[in-house]
Amino acid sequence: MPKINPFRSAMRQLTRAAEVLQLEPDILAILKKPYKILDVTMPVRMDDGSIKVFEGFRVQYNDARGPYKGGLRFHPQVDRDEVKALAFWMCIKNAVIGIPYGGAKGGITVDPKKLSKGELERLSRKFIERIAHNIGPETDVPAPDVNTDPEIMAWMVDEYSKIAGKFTPAVITGKPLSLGGSEGREEATGFSGVEVLKLAAQELKLKKNATVAVQGFGNVGHYFALFASRNKFKVVVLSDSKGGIYSARGLDIAKVAEWKKQMGQLKGYPGTAEITNEKLLELPVDVLVPAALENQIHEKNARKIKAKSIIEMANGPTTPDADPILWKRKILVVPDVLSNAGGVASSFLEWSQNRSGYYLSKQEVLKRLQKYMLEAWQNVWNTQKAYGKDLRTAAYVLALTRIAEAIKGRGL
Ligand code: NAD
Repeated sequence: MPKINPFRSAMRQLTRAAEVLQLEPDILAILKKPYKILDVTMPVRMDDGSIKVFEGFRVQYNDARGPYKGGLRFHPQVDRDEVKALAFWMCIKNAVIGIPYGGAKGGITVDPKKLSKGELERLSRKFIERIAHNIGPETDVPAPDVNTDPEIMAWMVDEYSKIAGKFTPAVITGKPLSLGGSEGREEATGFSGVEVLKLAAQELKLKKNATVAVQGFGNVGHYFALFASRNKFKVVVLSDSKGGIYSARGLDIAKVAEWKKQMGQLKGYPGTAEITNEKLLELPVDVLVPAALENQIHEKNARKIKAKSIIEMANGPTTPDADPILWKRKILVVPDVLSNAGGVASSFLEWSQNRSGYYLSKQEVLKRLQKYMLEAWQNVWNTQKAYGKDLRTAAYVLALTRIAEAIKGRGL
């Protein structure tokens, strides 16, 4: 896989859409740089008594439309430019889905699988201690992302609450239910992605049992596969960082999840053939769903993709060089800033519930998410028709219009 700087990709996407929209140069200049970058180091006592120093970031990209909002990623590849790109995409996404947030993202350069639970907790708490004075329910609201989960969010809420001197659940979303988490948050991103899949399938006239390949079997990939199966799609491929499994007959997602829980990997699941993460992308399936990391579909493999549609559930899985190739080949690419926006929409519902003290049932949450996704889809689709461009450019045009209005409304 070629080494591609995600922030450079993000800026190329921005420039492409800004040209189509004829965005004012002042607004474009503002959006080319994040408002604030917190660059922090965290000395952590390891279990063997030694001290290890970790590096982390919180990028607060733009808060014209509301408080900064975006997840926290723990991964060895995390660096400044990756977090900048992810923070920028959050601005676009929050505007596409129409929730009153700006965009942010954070991350720590670490392989959490190499830490004990105690080390992971100390690192998570230290990170919050470092950024505590720059976050808060009305300023910046983090959430989970790759390799972070409700338990980590719980440690972080606790650490922030100690510093604030009061229990402050609205500072972070993706919390466990016992600490003010929302019903439906866990499955929200995958669930909402399948709402988009259904709308795309209608446009493409896909039949019942249309085949789906999902790359990545974490929170997003797992729930996407589960809801896709429940909606009569046939999931034939799943993968994780160790490789993929293939079954032409279709996979039973609940059983595969149980296997993964016990074995720590998908590989070896009975009755399936092994497949690499690279080959998975080139399979002749109806729908391809990257749900892991950035830059998976690039200039070198875009011509080999055989799917009719790509539903981007990961952030930034397709590079700007691949986009025109896929567009020319008439492959319908539903961009990340639309298809995975249900995650942040559910975070918004969690934050609203924390602030109002009124809690919704799972059914109510999922119903609201359905509405958000349908409206966002229709808005992006209509923008695409109006401008005659791909869905990503259309989503950016819609988002930039809203962000520019907010920046100008607040006064340059
Ligand atoms: P996760 O940590 O729960 O799961 C990540 C999965 O990807 C794991 O199964 C891991 O094994 C797999 N993986 C890692 N490297 C891989 C590789 N090279 N090839 C194939 N698989 C690989 O993370 P998640 O929360 O499911 O997030 C996945 C993606 O979705 C990320 O891009 C994230 O930014 C995006 N996203 C997540 C949410 C959310 O609510 N969690 C919301 C919007 C977008």
